Amino acid sequence: MIIIMLGAPGTGKGTVADVLEGKLGIKHISTGDIFRKNIKEKTKLGIIAQQYINEGNLVPDDVTIDVIKERLEEPDVADGAILDGFPRTVKQAEALDKMLQEKGKQVDLVIELMTPDDEIIERIVQRRVCSNQDCKAVYNLVLHPPKVEGICDKCGSKLIKRKDDTEEIVKERLKNYFELTSPLIEYYEKQGKIDKETVSVRINRLGEDVAKDVANRIKNNS
Ligand code: AMP
Repeated sequence: MIIIMLGAPGTGKGTVADVLEGKLGIKHISTGDIFRKNIKEKTKLGIIAQQYINEGNLVPDDVTIDVIKERLEEPDVADGAILDGFPRTVKQAEALDKMLQEKGKQVDLVIELMTPDDEIIERIVQRRVCSNQDCKAVYNLVLHPPKVEGICDKCGSKLIKRKDDTEEIVKERLKNYFELTSPLIEYYEKQGKIDKETVSVRINRLGEDVAKDVANRIKNNS
């Protein structure tokens, strides 16, 4: 099963994908995580990606498509994947459809997360992530703080703030989302694959709630 997480930065795509991975046994793949790992390891890909990410821009399509193509060849995704942060442009979506078609697969479900803009900025500015690349746990200093300040509950590593999680860069990322990524909503709507979900503290519905509901629906339908 191939699931796509769609939504502006800070809507909780990673959180939903993580919970779904645990409940459905399908691998969570985040292109953002792949880029951050490469930046940390100073690989050729990392050096290219860094300049775009630090300014809140998208990494070019050809680079990103090659990254996901390679990742989808790995044996741990033979039964499916939850793609978090890919595709982000119509060109990437078309490339993904072609890639999957060649394997006799297709995109099965697109989960579109929606959160009010002011809440998104607040969530991102309050976000902290585990510095351990194998853990990558995500916290929110207000909604979901760690038990010990600055330390990951899961692995004990230091928590850090992502470099692109500043208000100024978030505004750029949101602009890019609405210009380049939101046309994907129509792309997948035409295919009848979108499940729209609101994530907002104002209605007391967080990523974990959405993931539980979606996982139950998938299990009941299979
Ligand atoms: P994320 O962790 O999904 O918020 O991604 C962090 C950053 O990585 C984004 O702001 C982009 O600069 C870059 N990135 C991640 N996925 C993609 C993608 N599919 N296409 C282009 N750039 C991406």
